[in-house]
Amino acid sequence: MDAATAAAYHDSLAKALSAGSAVLKRHGNALDAVEAAVKVLEDDPLFNAGRGSAFTAEGKNEMDAALMDGATLAAGSVAGVQFTRHPVSLARAVMEHTPYVMMVGAGADAFSRAQGLEQQPPSFFFTELRWQEFASVMRASGRPVPPRPAGVGSATGPAASSASPMFAHRFGTVGAVARDSEGHLAAATSTGGMQGKLPGRVGDSPLIGAGTYASDRSCAVSGTGVGEYFIRLTLARQICTLVEQGHPPQQAADHMIHAELPALKGGEGGVIVIAPTGHLVWSSNTLGMFRAKEEQGSLPAIQVK
Ligand code: ASP
Repeated sequence: MDAATAAAYHDSLAKALSAGSAVLKRHGNALDAVEAAVKVLEDDPLFNAGRGSAFTAEGKNEMDAALMDGATLAAGSVAGVQFTRHPVSLARAVMEHTPYVMMVGAGADAFSRAQGLEQQPPSFFFTELRWQEFASVMRASGRPVPPRPAGVGSATGPAASSASPMFAHRFGTVGAVARDSEGHLAAATSTGGMQGKLPGRVGDSPLIGAGTYASDRSCAVSGTGVGEYFIRLTLARQICTLVEQGHPPQQAADHMIHAELPALKGGEGGVIVIAPTGHLVWSSNTLGMFRAKEEQGSLPAIQVK
């Protein structure tokens, strides 16, 4: 990756970190902090969430997001939403304004409008680089590249090549975990999912216990990788179970990411984790996972990816 691209990633992670840490510094809660951090990353086209999301085989964005409050085990999530600028905030609205944990598709989009959350057309979420990456995934799997989304002009700017950072950065799901000054934990995750997924496919990110989990009794986790494997292992919850059983968080995360995940052929990914002590760990079995963290001993702490 060239220096300018690396600087752009660092810059974006620093912004997300400071949005979350600003909440914690004014004694806001961990849930507000992770939502604030993820919103910054959803707006950044570098990442596969919100603006810059991956495309379904039909060339549409179907975004998934979740968040969880470690203090109460309250959780909210959405899958397959198409128009909400900040899917993580829609997940929070599901948690706070419905008796449900999860809403999907057209019903979730309608709920988003009813809640007055900001709606955007497909052209808002579209980025040329992500589209080129998508087109190459479709070609590589022998599938036709669908027409560009309505409202998006013809190709402009540099086309992605296999050397593009977007290709090196295969996943790009965003997430945050935090501990607040009261000692409560929270986790949030947001994604456009896998490039070229069939319409209706849902990954691990919005599934509580798979790509996202938080409990004050153990830890908070946000994952990225091939969602199907995270789902089959209930990976985020499993890390927390190991921590509850007395394993150090690093050991628990490494066991799931470096032993259990690759034991399922094709299991690739990584996690960020925070423990009730404020201790932040991460683990990844992929080429890389962009991440940033801020910790102050046993005081508030936050990690983003
Ligand atoms: N875990 C996400 C999914 O399977 C993809 C990613 O992490 O980029 O939908």
